[in-house]
Amino acid sequence: MRRKLVVGNWKMNGSRTANSVLLSGVVAGLTPAGAACAVCVPAPYLAQCEAELSGTPLAWGAQDMSAYASGAYTGEVAAGMLLDFACSYVILGHSERRAYHVESDALVAQKTVAALAAGLTPIVCIGETLAQREAGQTEAVVGAQLGAVLDAIGAGDVARIVLAYEPVWAIGTGKTATPQMAQDVHLLLRAQVATKNAAAAAGVQILYGGSMKPDNAKELMAMPDIDGGLIGGAALKAADFLAIVHAAD
Ligand code: PEP
Repeated sequence: MRRKLVVGNWKMNGSRTANSVLLSGVVAGLTPAGAACAVCVPAPYLAQCEAELSGTPLAWGAQDMSAYASGAYTGEVAAGMLLDFACSYVILGHSERRAYHVESDALVAQKTVAALAAGLTPIVCIGETLAQREAGQTEAVVGAQLGAVLDAIGAGDVARIVLAYEPVWAIGTGKTATPQMAQDVHLLLRAQVATKNAAAAAGVQILYGGSMKPDNAKELMAMPDIDGGLIGGAALKAADFLAIVHAAD
């Protein structure tokens, strides 16, 4: 019912030369009827993605954007600029943005509204820290993060968002949530989405992120509410990324 989606989050990695090798390696290994696939790259490389990926099955996007359309926001990148480079996706509210750039639930919600208004597909990241999980606060934390976004968008836009459950303690640590732990949260998130738009909730793609690798991808994505992955470290090698994409096929 829901097509699987695998998205690479390159974070602050890459160079023109290395990107070409990685992008062509990924494109060469994709199968047309397989999972949908995208890479979210540092903003300076969006032009390279447009030049090298147009006409291929590999979509591209950014890792953040401004909540504002234009103006005196030095260093920021607007949704319209992402569209200028034919982006399909933008990651919003990644835990590294929340932690290092003090992005609040309210700001992530504002950015989601701006992305939707521009016609981009926001991939909204949600997840608890280890301390929050150990304190039994997972449900409250992810509920507040998602709630801020759902409150800000129209019911008709629910079908246009992608969610990524990324437990902060699993990102880049090699520790993965067990398939059941992830499934439990994905189910909660889908139920919360249903309170805004019950019909759309069944179609919303909810990705898992947090040390997803070729050797654990299949069992994670076999869970009924895990619709793909948001992949950090393993997206930087074509063979590893493709193995995850094919685990989703
Ligand atoms: C991420 O940064 O979104 C992520 C999931 O990273 P990693 O796969 O390296 O844990």
